[in-house]
Amino acid sequence: MPNRLTLSALTARLNRRQVSARDAMQACLEHIQRVDGQIHAFLSYDPADALAQADAADQLLARGGDATKPLLGVPIAIKDVIAVKNQPLNCGSKILGHFVSPYDATVIEKLRAAGALVFGRLNMDEFAMGSSTENSAFGPTRNPWDPTRIPGGSSGGSAAAVAADECLAALGSDTGGSIRQPASLCGCVGLKPTYGRVSRYGLVAFASSLDQIGAFGKTVRDAASVLGVIAGHDPRDSTSVPEPVPDYPARLDGNIRGLKLGVPKEYLVGGLNPEVKAALDAAITEMEKLGANVVEISLPHTDYAIATYYIIATAEASANLARFDGVRYGLRIDGADPIELYGRTRGAGFGPEVKRRIILGTYVLSSGYYDAYYLRAQKVRTLIRQDFLQAFASVDAILGPASPTAAFPIGEKADDPLQMYLSDIFTISCNLAGICGLVVPCGFTQSPKLPIGLQLLGRPFGEETLLRIGHAYEQATPWHNEKPALSRQSAA
Ligand code: GLN
Repeated sequence: MPNRLTLSALTARLNRRQVSARDAMQACLEHIQRVDGQIHAFLSYDPADALAQADAADQLLARGGDATKPLLGVPIAIKDVIAVKNQPLNCGSKILGHFVSPYDATVIEKLRAAGALVFGRLNMDEFAMGSSTENSAFGPTRNPWDPTRIPGGSSGGSAAAVAADECLAALGSDTGGSIRQPASLCGCVGLKPTYGRVSRYGLVAFASSLDQIGAFGKTVRDAASVLGVIAGHDPRDSTSVPEPVPDYPARLDGNIRGLKLGVPKEYLVGGLNPEVKAALDAAITEMEKLGANVVEISLPHTDYAIATYYIIATAEASANLARFDGVRYGLRIDGADPIELYGRTRGAGFGPEVKRRIILGTYVLSSGYYDAYYLRAQKVRTLIRQDFLQAFASVDAILGPASPTAAFPIGEKADDPLQMYLSDIFTISCNLAGICGLVVPCGFTQSPKLPIGLQLLGRPFGEETLLRIGHAYEQATPWHNEKPALSRQSAA
């Protein structure tokens, strides 16, 4: 079953003509039909388009392949917040109605140029606001390890699809943890690149100064391959940075001897589930066995991260989401005048979490409150970034949990937004600081058996180091080989 392979194993077989791109695509589509009813990772997919891409890849492969196309024939699925030409773009919301994207995001152009088979729309919290995918207007995604539990969010569909072998890799977006937290809860690899590493052109904006597109993979090598393709400067995104893109997969040598890793003392406080803590401790021991030097560090402004994030993110969201007015795209509910039309459309089109954030964001930006909230939050954001830069003066990477607990039951926090916000404590600072983060599987809870993820945070544009550490750890541990029972379901 080619859908169960890692991306790098599939590529090797495609190149040796042991399997065709059509076989790979077909295997994903059949597996989705078999299992997606149980997890709802996909909002839609277009088999005819997917298979046509596969056939084009097979023609190239028959002619000996193409060295400039490292992802030739590899099925990669996409979060519903990234524009793919001629495919629906809903952002997990009703407000876009039947909107179909007229263009490809830069990351999609790059995937296509690398030969990938771009398919499917993956479920997400509405406009990427949430930590459980329960805020999707189209119903929640379920965790492949236990369908009564959440897969994390907001990129829950992306993480679940990769963990359940419905695709080889996926793209997601991370504004405050939306790649790393679901990767952790579903047991796959999730990579949030440095702000500016990957173009945001064609990513529907939530909070523009925090958003970044990144990759989900079954292994660190797979995530490295996808990052190598999607990274780089883009004149259409003025915040993308003209830094050269290293050959990420080529640098994975398994050697981390002598690297210095810091564990923030602020991350080991109450609220951390004992099994998550035990898995983290074991990971630290493993890193030491591999020759890394692990030391305690301090990120003194950690306590302010959640409050700071929920001011900045909601402020930016309130401005970004003003464009969904019933005039420009998607849903329109008519009114006697434009104001009534706006009100009716936005009232019906947005869900409760999005409305809550627009209201909060409008408030913190309003005159009289701007200085007290928004400006103050920007200052604290600088302090949080300085904490990290200071830490990176003495350590090569920071090690910690990705989420305080394993996946929680669907419904547990749905009515308590504050509890949901607090679950982002370990991922949010990374976006405020603009640095990069990688999550790799590091164990399981006992009963029920649920994945636990290890988070590595790195210097701006230090993805290469994170991937090296993650890969070395992965090679030394068995966790990434485990699969949910659901992914083994095969045709009778
Ligand atoms: N869970 C966080 C939020 O609700 C982060 C979401 C994200 O990264 N898109 O905003």
